Amino acid sequence: MMTQSKAEHIVPSAGFQRRPLGLYVHIPFCRQKCRYCDFVSFPAGPEDPERHSSYIAALKQELKIQADRYGDRYQVDSVYIGGGTPTMLNVDRINEVVEEISRRFSIVGRDRLELTIEANPESIDALQCRRIRDGGFNRVSLGVQSLSEEMLQNLGRIHNASMAEESFSRIREIVTDNINVDLMFGIPGQTPAIWEDTLEKAMMWKPAHLSFYSLQLEEGTPFYQHYRSGKLELPSWESNREMYHTAVTRLKESGYEHYEVSSTALPGRRCLHNLKYWSMADYLGLGLAAHSYLDGIRYENTSDLDQYIAGDHLKEISPGSRKEQMGDYLFTALRQIRGFELVDFFDRFGVDFRTEYGVSAEALIREGLLICDDISLRFSAQGLDRTNLVLSRLLNHEGGPHGE
Ligand code: SF4
Repeated sequence: MMTQSKAEHIVPSAGFQRRPLGLYVHIPFCRQKCRYCDFVSFPAGPEDPERHSSYIAALKQELKIQADRYGDRYQVDSVYIGGGTPTMLNVDRINEVVEEISRRFSIVGRDRLELTIEANPESIDALQCRRIRDGGFNRVSLGVQSLSEEMLQNLGRIHNASMAEESFSRIREIVTDNINVDLMFGIPGQTPAIWEDTLEKAMMWKPAHLSFYSLQLEEGTPFYQHYRSGKLELPSWESNREMYHTAVTRLKESGYEHYEVSSTALPGRRCLHNLKYWSMADYLGLGLAAHSYLDGIRYENTSDLDQYIAGDHLKEISPGSRKEQMGDYLFTALRQIRGFELVDFFDRFGVDFRTEYGVSAEALIREGLLICDDISLRFSAQGLDRTNLVLSRLLNHEGGPHGE
């Protein structure tokens, strides 16, 4: 563990060039908690302005502290306002935070800055859209999840399919056409046909970016409890994989580039901010439970709202051992469909990837789960179905049998 004071003492030398930085800002409020969700978010209606105000004030305070600490060394080229549901707040309040970022950090020109806000259909009316546009946002990520009423109800979402479609049109008309649509598959009761119907409808909107996530059962959620007590049945693994590959195939046929396990984009519309996560570039997270990655060190903020509002932001600093950092790198970089370049691994860790992981990697390549062309290493289509197993075997140097 590195102490905060030691981290503070990293200062730029003369002639120092500012490095690119992504900024993530977490807004931890939602109108209602979805049944599968374990994100750090609290149900808080628009009738709770005091809580929102205290949170924004705490965010600005953290922003000042972090700008004093890192502002000289970095230039921000992406800002991502995520949650929770950021549009639960009056977006003017969020625009204040973005203005504060512009005041305190060096920022690339507006034409090069990617400025994203997440939105959900129940809180993105025309007024909110105008506020988003006036705040200079040039990318919106919309949480659609499904266009089947039954699936939306199963998930505990509070919007319906027509609200999702109207929101998408409204954002495109008022804010931007640079929109990501989030979809979910592997939902209880979902068949491949139901999934395909949602996928085809969403593709007809022609979003610039489309992400598709398999539902994960997270401990502590109602879904997890119901699953453990036998009250919830998920689609089979085969069905889940069929849905995944249908998405990849159909999206590619429609001109989307599959560039990350769960992400596709039209040419030129990849998410620059998320690419920072997957390429282990520096990013700073502000807000409750936000994570940062700076100079190879991970930071995590507290997830206690009262503590955060009281100004006690940081929970943990983890430089990690060299071995942990290498594992972290493989876990993250392999999410990109192109994988990672072996020379990048060497540049970061000063050791050949094959020296460290050659035995397990070769076994996985022989089984057709990984592909190596002497320049880069990546998942095969078969490996994409078993990412956890492949990573576990790769990192643990195991050469065990092929499994799920
Ligand atoms: S809207 Fe998103 S963050 Fe909020 S409860 Fe639902 S899944 Fe969680």
